Amino acid sequence: MIRVSNFSIDLNYSDDSIKNAVCKELRISKNAIEKLSIFKRSIDARKKNDIRFNLTVDVILNVNENKVIGKSRSNKANIVKPYEYKIPEHKPLNYRPVIIGFGPAGMFAGLILAKAGEKPIIIEQGSDVDTRNKDIENFIKTRKLKTNSNIQFGEGGAGTFSDGKLNTGTKDVRARNVLTEFYKHGAPEEILYNSKPHIGTDNLRIVVKNIRKDIINFGGEVRFNTKLTNIKTIGNVLHSIEVESNGNKEIIETKSLILAIGHSSRDTFKMLYDKGVYLEQKPFSIGARIEHLREDIDKSQFGTFAGNERLGSAPYKLSTHLSNGRGVYTFCMCPGGEVVTAASEENTICTNGMSEFARNKENSNSALLVGVSPNDFDSTHPLSGIELQRKIEHNAFVVAGSNYCAPVQKVGDFLESRFSKSFGSVKPSYQMGTTFAKLDDYLPEYITDSMRLGIVEMDKKLKGFANSDAILTGPETRSSSPVRITRDDNLESINIKGLYPCGEGAGYAGGIVSAAVDGIKCAEKILIKAK
Ligand SMILES: Cc1cc2nc3c(=O)[nH]c(=O)nc-3n(C[C@H](O)[C@H](O)[C@H](O)COP(=O)(O)OP(=O)(O)OC[C@H]3O[C@@H](n4cnc5c(N)ncnc54)[C@H](O)[C@@H]3O)c2cc1C
Repeated sequence: MIRVSNFSIDLNYSDDSIKNAVCKELRISKNAIEKLSIFKRSIDARKKNDIRFNLTVDVILNVNENKVIGKSRSNKANIVKPYEYKIPEHKPLNYRPVIIGFGPAGMFAGLILAKAGEKPIIIEQGSDVDTRNKDIENFIKTRKLKTNSNIQFGEGGAGTFSDGKLNTGTKDVRARNVLTEFYKHGAPEEILYNSKPHIGTDNLRIVVKNIRKDIINFGGEVRFNTKLTNIKTIGNVLHSIEVESNGNKEIIETKSLILAIGHSSRDTFKMLYDKGVYLEQKPFSIGARIEHLREDIDKSQFGTFAGNERLGSAPYKLSTHLSNGRGVYTFCMCPGGEVVTAASEENTICTNGMSEFARNKENSNSALLVGVSPNDFDSTHPLSGIELQRKIEHNAFVVAGSNYCAPVQKVGDFLESRFSKSFGSVKPSYQMGTTFAKLDDYLPEYITDSMRLGIVEMDKKLKGFANSDAILTGPETRSSSPVRITRDDNLESINIKGLYPCGEGAGYAGGIVSAAVDGIKCAEKILIKAK
């Protein structure tokens, strides 16, 4: 197979125009092409009056490909072998591995172990995705939070009710396998080639269900509404776990436990700490969601091409390093999405962002975050980052009226340290209602000062970012884990053998794809150990 990399093509390209470009590059005729597929597509918006795509395509020819490469003298063309993920060879395990958590990390660990024939048992405290959906709708309607089934917890994990961005910083080749599995389980084909793929919450809810069905077909077991409540070790080796479902306790013996618990399972972190599992503090970030009109962001990013169907709604990614030493950045940008309630504890508010595949809602939002380090925590206790999150989330709940409305402030008023009194062109998308309150009333000063400086700097990079009508809905405290469950080179806990801390909550991933990749890596380690 020949890969022709990174050539520029018109926004309105067709199958035929791609073929023409490839034939020109390889100096071949069209009938030499047996099969052609796009491998990567990115938007080149450097010239606002001539936005184009960069394409990388794979072609299979019905003539000698080596000869074609030699003759073409193209510096864009190479012979490549298609990537195919292979489960490592191993001896059968003489026990059933257990996975805690059915987010991306647990789901992919489960899929690999099930495909390897090892019948994993997957324990998830939350509900299946359909029940979970109803639980979230019910919370919005009745303001009664189900603490085990919400935007953070349940089938598919934290990202199920998200924008489903699948871009990742990880260079790990297993990321390709994650996208391929998503595609095989119902995601749109474009996630395989878009440089910034996104799947949308609507597709994710289907995909996670299909992955669960496959795990079960391969001999695995997924138990919802079941919680890990205790672990037993003998010496420094895992012996068994206790799980609880509907008040019934059960002991499960196992030699391998993948802990893919996400970053919000605070009682589980505490249980692990009490049991002597080594945990440490970790930097994370705090801020709020910033919302603009989608149309304004699209115009700023795509100029006169704004609204072009092929381009879709415009994403952005901004960052700045301030002279006070703090980093401020935008995160988890949701074009044409909405701000959602992501609380998992009663009497707290925390926000996040979600969109459907179409990304066609009125506003575009992102998290505007300031980095915090253990120096900002109140103590050296490994769980003190969680206490900082909790304090902010509760303060936000109180300043907004103690009824799960979220505190909002217009950007113009925030920059002037004024209380907002009415909305301008941007109306908040947060479904549970909002109350005007100052960010300074629930966030530490070192966060709000840095956010103000950051907004002004970012406006220089994205025109309109500091629009006075833009809205800040807060707080956003759960963009990453404030805790690390430290592990060794075998991916086992540094003080308990057989325990595999995994994914975002363990501090080894940040996002859907990297968490899934980490799940695959932990599953592989368990299989390789048996070799
Ligand atoms: C609203 C929202 C939007 C997001 N948008 C994106 C995005 O667009 N792109 C992106 O890459 N990332 C996004 N993220 C982040 C992404 O969801 C996480 O990085 C990812 O889900 C982490 O995967 P994980 O498997 O490590 O943990 P999680 O997905 O958090 O899964 C952990 C699971 O473990 C379960 N669990 C915890 N403790 C126990 C216990 N004791 N017993 C049983 N089960 C337990 C939890 O219920 C949970 O379901 C978003 C997150 C949220 C909340």
